[in-house]
Amino acid sequence: MRLTHLFTKTLRDAPADEVAKNAQLLIRAGFIYKEMAGVYAYLPLGKRVLDKIIQIIREEMDSIGGNEISLTALQPKEVWETSGRWDDSVMDVWFKTELNGGSALGLAPTHEEPLTRLMKQYIKSYKDLPVYPYQFQIKFRNELRSKSGLMRGREFWMKDLYSFSRTQAEHDEFYEKVSEAYHRVYERLGIGEQTFKTFASGGSFAKYSHEFQTISPVGEDTIYLNREKGIAVNQEVYTDETLAELGLDKSSLEEVRAVEVGNIFTLGTRFSDPLDLRYTDENGVSQPVIMGSYGIGPSRIMGLVAEHFSDDKGLLWPEAIAPAKVYLVPIGTNDTVVSTSDSLYNRLTDLHVDVLYDDRDERPGAKFADAELIGVPYRVTISERLLGENKYELTIRATGETSLLTEGELLAKLT
Ligand code: ATP
Ligand code: MG
Repeated sequence: MRLTHLFTKTLRDAPADEVAKNAQLLIRAGFIYKEMAGVYAYLPLGKRVLDKIIQIIREEMDSIGGNEISLTALQPKEVWETSGRWDDSVMDVWFKTELNGGSALGLAPTHEEPLTRLMKQYIKSYKDLPVYPYQFQIKFRNELRSKSGLMRGREFWMKDLYSFSRTQAEHDEFYEKVSEAYHRVYERLGIGEQTFKTFASGGSFAKYSHEFQTISPVGEDTIYLNREKGIAVNQEVYTDETLAELGLDKSSLEEVRAVEVGNIFTLGTRFSDPLDLRYTDENGVSQPVIMGSYGIGPSRIMGLVAEHFSDDKGLLWPEAIAPAKVYLVPIGTNDTVVSTSDSLYNRLTDLHVDVLYDDRDERPGAKFADAELIGVPYRVTISERLLGENKYELTIRATGETSLLTEGELLAKLT
């Protein structure tokens, strides 16, 4: 992408009312726009990051048999009444509205009920199971407080996968597969080292559910972590009984703040019973479908990464989700500098390396400052002086390490 084609500009200041560091940085660098508290638009650079996060999750969900769908955000009251969750005292984050004719609607905060109802059309016999639909969707929740930038939105992106299985054993097997896929997701996103599976409360169909929590001082959750074993326990199940069951010794646990980046949940027949989702087994007997739900928050993850991978100069994206791999800076308007920059840009683009090409008529200092604020992993500088020596300057954003390379060496490094 040429920066002369990019409509956003970096800003000196974030909005005065924005208190979260992740949102401050992302707004200043031109990744997001604040519509109101907890509600942000994704601008070209931010959309690229979000899409990369989503693509990694998509690949891992497809690898375990997921079927991608896109459900509706507008939801009729009736389907939510079947489970009792239309009631504001049961689910307190509803945004509700109504049709012109008067019938009540909600903006979907999650999708168990509507999807369970939809699946009744396709699940009749044991031959139709198991199945794993999932989606990426904006969810709407009237969160009481939304002061953590992208980490707690009132509208936010969620990946939600649901499993429909014949038996508890079949469910358990898939549940483990999702857990492994989640580890791969966080690893690929660059937060694997700081992310731990935690035991959380499970509802009526399983003793525990599991969350994936990333250690962070700005986290809203407290977890008790055994680093050696790589597992943790959430506050609500941090009891002597749980610790004994998990073979954890209190003295081996660290109390840390963390952000929930995903969760997996055994639903049993919590939704298939009220919505009457059943199948006929091999013996012709009608059975309830066993369900699970599995969430990940792509926009929360984007905020978390922005919050943690940053320094006093700006953002520091892990390569896998950076808006581009290379920030290309020509210095000056000398013809050779411009033509060399153009051809390097075309060359890298042909090799499928994402480049932000700073072809603006700006001072070098302003370009370097923007390169640092935007936080692309590599910066390549081209100047008359460097070209005289047949060299390109490569700077690594994370370390500031700089080297002078020939074109061949540069291409080898970046491809
Ligand atoms: P929390 O306890 O943080 O409110 P939750 O238990 O309500 O999360 P789920 O309903 O299971 O979360 O949503 C699945 C995933 O969506 C969460 O693991 C989290 O990553 C993300 N998520 C939930 N609420 C928000 C939000 N308000 N803003 C951004 N991401 C969210
Ligand atoms: Mg919540």
